[in-house]
Amino acid sequence: NSRRTLEIRLGAYGSAQHLLLVRDLTQIHRLETMRRDFVGNITHELRTPLTVLRGMSEEIASMESPDAESLVRPAQLMEQQIDRMSRLIEDLLLLSRLETEASSKASTAVDIPAVLDDVLKEAESLSGGRHRIQSQIDRELMIRGDEDELRSAFSNLLANAVSYTGENGIVDVQWFQAGGKACLAVADTGPGIAPHHIPRLTERFYRADSGRSAKSGGTGLGLAIVKHVLSRHDAELEINSTVGEGSTFTAVFPHGHGYELQ
Ligand code: ADP
Repeated sequence: NSRRTLEIRLGAYGSAQHLLLVRDLTQIHRLETMRRDFVGNITHELRTPLTVLRGMSEEIASMESPDAESLVRPAQLMEQQIDRMSRLIEDLLLLSRLETEASSKASTAVDIPAVLDDVLKEAESLSGGRHRIQSQIDRELMIRGDEDELRSAFSNLLANAVSYTGENGIVDVQWFQAGGKACLAVADTGPGIAPHHIPRLTERFYRADSGRSAKSGGTGLGLAIVKHVLSRHDAELEINSTVGEGSTFTAVFPHGHGYELQ
């Protein structure tokens, strides 16, 4: 959209002169729209679990003589929704810290292979044996950065690969060096993503397939977090995907500024 918003004011200046003031408000308007959309999205994301919680508590209140067994299902549903709200709040806090705070540990050497071991274990448990999770890790390759931030970025990429890939699918993780760059590639044999969605995936709450994404239990903030963490490490996210075949998300860490290979 190339439309611009200009504010033009003509005022008297001194006795004979006039002052013409032109202000470009385009950027201010764009930020305002983004802020409004963001608040609208958060409201929607919080309202959905609250509606379920209200429904369940009404169901319990209306029970004549509730026994332990009849309370199991509403209690489980309530727990799921409370988890969902907690995850959303955690992700919002992390995202806001990433946007506003300077990185405190950016120049510490991070043992990425050890971080990946943990993240892979987490992915195994999320998968519950429904996928084949394989990895190839250069155990000598480390980078400088913030371990907690990198852990949450990698964990989001793996959680997505597991969540969006169906039963018996393959999730493949590779940590390697190529052309002086350190790369983490997370590939899956999931549904893939249509090309027109790809440039927008790292926007907050953007979902390529809202039905499938809702079932994934994600907050809609995972890739926004990944993008912020990577840009704080001067790294980039590459997304390659073919519908019906799968997707590969690659974090590419360059040499140089604020970062160096060990
Ligand atoms: P969500 O919580 O919805 O997963 P993300 O920011 O992590 O939020 O991802 C944004 C969207 O990108 C998802 O809703 C989904 O449509 C798409 N996506 C992310 N990872 C994958 C993947 N591995 N395979 C297919 N689609 C994916």
